[in-house]
Amino acid sequence: MKVLIVEDEPNIASFEKLELEHEGFETEIAQTGREAVTVFEANPDAFSIVLLDIMLPELNGLEVLRRIRKISKIPVILVTARGETFDKVNGLDAGADDYISKPFAIEELLARIRSVLRRSEYLQEQGGAGNDSLKEDTELKFDRLTLNSISFEVFVDKTPVVLTKTEFMLLKCLLQHRNEVLSRDFIISEVWGEDHYIDENSVDVYIRYLRSKIDDVFGVNYIKTIRGAGYIIRESANETH
Ligand code: CA
Repeated sequence: MKVLIVEDEPNIASFEKLELEHEGFETEIAQTGREAVTVFEANPDAFSIVLLDIMLPELNGLEVLRRIRKISKIPVILVTARGETFDKVNGLDAGADDYISKPFAIEELLARIRSVLRRSEYLQEQGGAGNDSLKEDTELKFDRLTLNSISFEVFVDKTPVVLTKTEFMLLKCLLQHRNEVLSRDFIISEVWGEDHYIDENSVDVYIRYLRSKIDDVFGVNYIKTIRGAGYIIRESANETH
């Protein structure tokens, strides 16, 4: 998933780039309104979401948004600065999906990105026909847990669980291979990829993070350690729900 970051302040642009890439997104930065329009029009399908600053040189964010909306329904989050007189209604009227005020915590931005992606039909449309089967493929369910691989959301019952990209990929891997014991090596190749050198201890660390966000919080025991072998999420008849 690629994010088009439209931001004229280099410090903020590189902060957003760094954090989003850390979460597994690809990014491209446009520093002016005109550049944003040029980059987007050249290849609209390259991007999954636009993070759009309002106060920009050349064309302002709302004008950029209008031009994007002429050719695309891509999710757009407007970024406003504190003290900036910004009419939220204007922005949403112009077709923004959400907005966020600077300065923001990266967790807030990520939550908004996920929520906008969830609400948007854009990605389903990108997937073309057969949306029902697409939906089935994108939702993994286990007991009270639901993982949606398009919106990057995880729920236990109806309660959202905020995971980092790595935690999310790890959980997805366990769910896709439920009832199989997964070795640390296998998990590393699935979650981080073959071309990354990751210490096996990192797997244990991320399993611990996942347990602290899911098992500990919801009083369940989904992720089991198989000593000397690895980890498993297993359907078990004798577990009470
Ligand atoms: Ca600005």
